[in-house]
Amino acid sequence: MALVRSAQYPQFYPCTERKPNGRKLNATAGGGRRAVYDLPMTAIEHVLSLIESRRDDAVALTQELVRIPTVNPPGDAYRPCAELIGARLATRGFNVTYVRAEGAAGDNERHPRINVIARREGKRPGPCVHFNSHIDVVEAGHGWTVPPFDAVVKNGKIYGRGTCDMKGGLAASIVAVEALIDSGMDLPGAIEISGTVDEESGGFGGVAYLAERGWFSKPRVDHVIIPEPLNVDRVCIGHRGVWWAEIETKGRIAHGSMPFLGDSAIRHMGAVLERFERDLYPALKRKTTSMPVVPDGARESTLNINSIHGGQVEPQGGAMPSPVVADSCRMVIDRRFMIEEDIGVVKNEVREVLNRLAESRPDFRYELRDLFEVIPSMTNKDAPVAQATASAIRTVLQREPAFICSPGSYDQKHIDRIGKLKDCIAYGPGILDLAHQPDEYVVIADLMRSSQVMALATMSLLNGRA
Ligand SMILES: [Zn+2]
Repeated sequence: MALVRSAQYPQFYPCTERKPNGRKLNATAGGGRRAVYDLPMTAIEHVLSLIESRRDDAVALTQELVRIPTVNPPGDAYRPCAELIGARLATRGFNVTYVRAEGAAGDNERHPRINVIARREGKRPGPCVHFNSHIDVVEAGHGWTVPPFDAVVKNGKIYGRGTCDMKGGLAASIVAVEALIDSGMDLPGAIEISGTVDEESGGFGGVAYLAERGWFSKPRVDHVIIPEPLNVDRVCIGHRGVWWAEIETKGRIAHGSMPFLGDSAIRHMGAVLERFERDLYPALKRKTTSMPVVPDGARESTLNINSIHGGQVEPQGGAMPSPVVADSCRMVIDRRFMIEEDIGVVKNEVREVLNRLAESRPDFRYELRDLFEVIPSMTNKDAPVAQATASAIRTVLQREPAFICSPGSYDQKHIDRIGKLKDCIAYGPGILDLAHQPDEYVVIADLMRSSQVMALATMSLLNGRA
């Protein structure tokens, strides 16, 4: 997938055409398609230039967020990060609630799972637009050329763990919403911003916990934008499904000099791998999907062998292993599947390969254990939040947005399945390929453009214009 760099973007935005009376801006697609907003031109220009003038503030906010190392696992520093967001939004008239996911995996006094939800009511009734960002980041890992939590600014980029995934997006959404409020515009409905935890480990102490308690359902919320890093000119309408499972083959321990007296679980696992290559991988390749997954390689069902562990644990400190036949071998598989595939069928494909092997291979015994699953999620690209965001991209970036799906999953799954809220997309400034990498960064120009896109999308959604 070619990356989109903001350096190519035109310097400025409000595009398109004036109506004959000169008072309205119509953002249209390709000149001929339907208008999506019909808001006063001056209001749009005012908000866009207000955001443009807050570049330093957007950078500083991103830096502040990145300098709180909310590494997950174990779930460090969630409280100060949530409180930074809450305290800032409280000064703009938001009602701030902190929800600790008590009893969630990993929640304890040392690492409390603290989520923050801020809501601001408009003066008139109307829909609620919600921006949801996860505040946790993955560990820094090796290979950095800058300190991972210093949020260094260099060459128009902010570097650091979480700049791209996704504290830059969180900062962009806060700056967008503040500009809307500060513009003095008469905003109906309500705006919410949440900072939630544990997305990187499944979201169970974050969005899932909140969704189970009604925080992501109608009538409280109508439209959700998740500023995950999917590139500044793309609207992400969903993600593939996930099935993690562990396959264990069984053997019988014996002396390594007489392996014929035992039964090697590792050789059985070798036979499993051979059947995967012969039968399963070609079957996965034959499947097709309507999901616009990026990058292209992810537009088919995939299976990764995540790990294999067989036999005794390797001795540490230079000690020699002892000669034994492995009586157990375990393999963790990571199967990603499409909206057209049923998870029962996905599981059965693997089970059938194993059962067929058992018919022909003497003494082959196995166990298959589920570890984790996520059902695919996809919003219609004509959904209001998708269209409002696409239209705002056309206005701000003057280019046709792409509708995509993510190869991996993110919190949309919980909003869709638990909250039963379909009108949800991911849209944010980060470059997808940089997520979780060393020297992760966000391009400051992208941060500002995405903030403008978020503000325009919010305006049109609150006014029911999408
Ligand atoms: Zn993320």
